[in-house]
Amino acid sequence: MDIINIHPIEINPIGIVHSLQQDTAGMPINGQQASIEIFPEYAGGLKRIEEHSHLWILSWFHQANQKVIETVPRKVNPNAPVYGVFGIRTPGRPNPIGLSLVKLDQIQGNQLIVQNLDAIDGSPVLDIKPYYEQDIIFSPRAPYIRPQQKEMRRQIFRTEALLHHQEECEGLLLAIRMALIVEEELGKLNSPDLLVSVAGSACLADTIQGLTRARVANPPRFHFVESEDNMLVRWKKGARELKFVPKHTSFTKEELNILSDEELFNIDCSSHFIF
Ligand SMILES: [Zn+2]
Repeated sequence: MDIINIHPIEINPIGIVHSLQQDTAGMPINGQQASIEIFPEYAGGLKRIEEHSHLWILSWFHQANQKVIETVPRKVNPNAPVYGVFGIRTPGRPNPIGLSLVKLDQIQGNQLIVQNLDAIDGSPVLDIKPYYEQDIIFSPRAPYIRPQQKEMRRQIFRTEALLHHQEECEGLLLAIRMALIVEEELGKLNSPDLLVSVAGSACLADTIQGLTRARVANPPRFHFVESEDNMLVRWKKGARELKFVPKHTSFTKEELNILSDEELFNIDCSSHFIF
């Protein structure tokens, strides 16, 4: 290898983040809505960007500690094991480059209004790249660092569910409520040995599939029968099985947000599982 290639690299920011989020401590795990101002000399790079719904944003965590090589992802769970920084996404790392998959909401001249940006106000923006269908790996292998707080688990499930199902409908909300209970009882949802059988609406089934990454085949983990009137969702891991029957066929969105688990479901832990 030619040693001349190993020297510091100079990068010029192409823009800057404007956000109500002033500090990293309060940044939600899924990022925030923000505006990205692209500097005039780079504005031509935005030509036809409106053809994309989602973008990768590379930013610079300008407040991060660059001396970190190994650390615990404390924000997710202070009891998690120590990871090398290249196996987690904590901001502190030798080159504190931020990577966010954002939804492009609006373009106003050289300003992009985006959702889910993990970068605080004033962060330099280094690059923007489009997100393509071929970027999707439906069920990757990844360690499960279980968020300690239920609210953080709910936020993550909501983000995953919305990215997959693309609308916040009753079926999606019902699936999230169920998934929060199943995750407590049976652990990681994207686990090769978690099997799911859904009799219910297409929206419910689609969202459960997005949350569990369970496929119909290869390996077979998912079974679906459309049935609006006789809803039944079965989750099985090893010898344990949970059966959910919603107490009504049609809850409103508000009810799905405020009712207790007991008000929403009859839950049965019997062992007769017919996949
Ligand atoms: Zn839906």
